[in-house]
Amino acid sequence: MKKLLFLAAFIPSSITLSAQKNLPWKNKKCAVSLTYDDALNVHLDNVIPLLDSLKLRGTFYLSTFFPGFYNRIEDWKKVARANRHELGNHCIYHPCTGRIPGRDWVKPDQDLSTYTVQRMRDELRMNNVILKMLDGKIKRSFAYPCGDMKIGDSLYLDRKDFVSARGVEEKFLPINKIDLYNVGAFSVVGQTGEQLIEQVKYAMANNTYLVFLFHGVGGEHSLNVSLEAHRKLLLFLKKHEKEIWVAPFIDVTEYIQATLKK
Ligand SMILES: [Zn+2]
Repeated sequence: MKKLLFLAAFIPSSITLSAQKNLPWKNKKCAVSLTYDDALNVHLDNVIPLLDSLKLRGTFYLSTFFPGFYNRIEDWKKVARANRHELGNHCIYHPCTGRIPGRDWVKPDQDLSTYTVQRMRDELRMNNVILKMLDGKIKRSFAYPCGDMKIGDSLYLDRKDFVSARGVEEKFLPINKIDLYNVGAFSVVGQTGEQLIEQVKYAMANNTYLVFLFHGVGGEHSLNVSLEAHRKLLLFLKKHEKEIWVAPFIDVTEYIQATLKK
């Protein structure tokens, strides 16, 4: 007995810690999803090569009417075939509510306020069909274009069509407080790498889910982050992958669903 006690005193702290683990995100401190909207060329050219080199997986919300999708279908197919990254639904035409301040840029034909709920659901279902032709998958997650969830007073999403949906409210939430059809996300616009890392550290300290929402990465969109800041964030995530679960949005939200059912 004396001998055992003596040995216990010399067990490295890392082993003792791992034995005590009971952390909510696959035994890690937090979960992080990297989501990229609007089928931009920079996602194929800048983001995916970096993610692949680090063996990290991202989520790409595709509006299939955008040139970055239809001009580069073969490249998106390759992404799908490699089966590493998630292709998510972001509507075909990316309709947003035009009749609110600051939305002068919304084209009348793509104004969500002129849609019926049925038309929107049909568009979402057809976009799922298009994405299925690329990756063969039936389960899909969704990101609300412009964060608009309603047409008039009606929520338009038919939950049967999607596993989960990403909104745009900035919130850090623990696993049992997440609304799977309005998961929060932090838009990345001009932050430094250090600022993005601070957000991850907050999620780690509070055991929450953190979803990053990127548009431009090294250009191509007015909502942009520098290549350097993006790279710093990804290197930090890689370095701490024993503590941070980095996974596509659909993987994390399916895990949340399964955990809450237990
Ligand atoms: Zn969008």
